[in-house]
Amino acid sequence: MPEAAATDRTGLRTSIASALDRAGAPGDTAALWRELGRAGVLRALGPSGTTPGRAADPLALEVLLTELDARHPTGTVLSACVQLATALPILAEGLDSDPVRSVYEATLDGEAQLALATTDSGAGGSDLMEATTVAELGEDQVVLNGGKRWITNATTAGHALVLARHRPARHFTSFVWVLVPTDAAGVTVEPTTTRLFLGSGVGNLRFDGVTVGRDHVVGRPGRALPSFARHIGTERLASALWARAICRRVLDRTREQLAGHPLHGRTAWDNDAVRARFAKCLVELRRMDALCATIQGGPDEQRTAVDGMIAKAAVAESLQYVVGECVQLQGAAAFADDGIAHLHTEAAAWSIAGGATGAMLAGVADHAADVLKASR
Ligand SMILES: Cc1cc2nc3c(=O)[nH]c(=O)nc-3n(C[C@H](O)[C@H](O)[C@H](O)COP(=O)(O)OP(=O)(O)OC[C@H]3O[C@@H](n4cnc5c(N)ncnc54)[C@H](O)[C@@H]3O)c2cc1C
Repeated sequence: MPEAAATDRTGLRTSIASALDRAGAPGDTAALWRELGRAGVLRALGPSGTTPGRAADPLALEVLLTELDARHPTGTVLSACVQLATALPILAEGLDSDPVRSVYEATLDGEAQLALATTDSGAGGSDLMEATTVAELGEDQVVLNGGKRWITNATTAGHALVLARHRPARHFTSFVWVLVPTDAAGVTVEPTTTRLFLGSGVGNLRFDGVTVGRDHVVGRPGRALPSFARHIGTERLASALWARAICRRVLDRTREQLAGHPLHGRTAWDNDAVRARFAKCLVELRRMDALCATIQGGPDEQRTAVDGMIAKAAVAESLQYVVGECVQLQGAAAFADDGIAHLHTEAAAWSIAGGATGAMLAGVADHAADVLKASR
C-alpha cells in the first residue's frame, strides 16, 4: 500500500529523499520508480484521479527533477519527467475504461512504467500531422500498424501510449491514442543504439497488425493532438526548470574544482579570465531564473502552449552554453567517465527531444501578436 506523500515543497522533498535513499544504484530506473510509487510521490505529483484531464504542475515536478538530477543520470530523470508531465495526464483522460484505469493505477503505484510514443518512424518528429502509424477502429477492437522511434521507456514499460492516425486527412482531428501492451503479439521492441541517456530505456517500437480491445482507446478519437499539445507544454516547462537545476549543479561543482586547481602559482579561480568566463555563466543562470519565475504552478489553465515553446527554446541555448563553458573551464577532468563532457552531449537533446527548437520557433512566430501583447 503506497504511503501518502506531503504535497508542500518541503514535505515532498523529504518523501523524495527517503525514497531515493531506498532506491538502487544510479540508473536503476525501475527500482527508483517503484520506491517513488511506494512513498506516494508519484500520486502526489501525478494528475488527480478525481479530476482527470488536469495538467501536471511543473513547479511540483521541479522538486522531483532537481532531487533526481543530483543523484541519477539524465536518462533516469528523463524517464520520470515524460511519465509524470505528459504520459500519465494523457492516460488520465481515459479512466472510464477498465484496462486504462488499471495501467494508470499500477503506474502511479510505481509497479509499472509507461512510454509515450508520438515520434513516428515514417515522418519527421516535428511533423506529427504526417505520422504514418495507423489505427483501424472497429466496433470491438483496434488494429495498429506502423512504428515509433526514440521512445523513452520503450524497453522498460509494460504499456505504450501510441499516437496513431484513424483518418487519412492531414488534420488535427485525425488522431487517436491507443494503449498498447508492449508484450502484445505483433509488437517489436528494440533498444536504440546509443551510449547516452543511461536509465531512459530509450528504444524503437514496431506494430505489425497489433490487435487490442476497443477499450484500449484513450479519450475520444480525434482529440489526441489537442491533448498532446496541452500536456507536452507542461513537459517543456518542467524540463526548463530541470535544465536550470543542472546548470546550478554544474556551476557549483566547477567553482569548487577551479578553487582547487593550480594555475600560474595560484588557483584557476584566482585567474581574471577564468572568473569572467564563469561570471558570464552566472549571468546566463540569472537569465534562466527570470524565465523560470514566469512559470506558473498548479494544474491551472493559464499556461499557454507558447509559454512552453519559449521556455524550451530559451533553456536549450542556455544549458548548452553553461555546460559547454564548464567543460572548458574544468579542462581535462571534464572528459573522465564521470565528467561533464558526457552531460554536454546529452544537454544538446534539449533542443531536440520533446520538440525541436526549429519547430518551437515556428510555433512562437505563429503566436507573435499574443507574445508581444503579453510582454506589454
Ligand atoms: C533522448 C530523447 C528522448 C526522446 N523521447 C521521446 C519519447 O519519449 N517519445 C517520443 O514520441 N519521442 C521522443 N523523442 C523523439 C523527439 O521528440 C524527436 O526527436 C523530436 O520531436 C524531433 O524530431 P526529429 O528527431 O525527427 O527531428 P526533426 O523534427 O526532423 O527536426 C530536424 C531539424 O529540423 C528542424 N526543424 C524541424 N521543424 C522545423 C521548422 N518548422 N522550422 C525550422 N526548423 C525546423 C529542427 O529544429 C531540427 O534541427 C526523444 C528524442 C531524444 C533525443
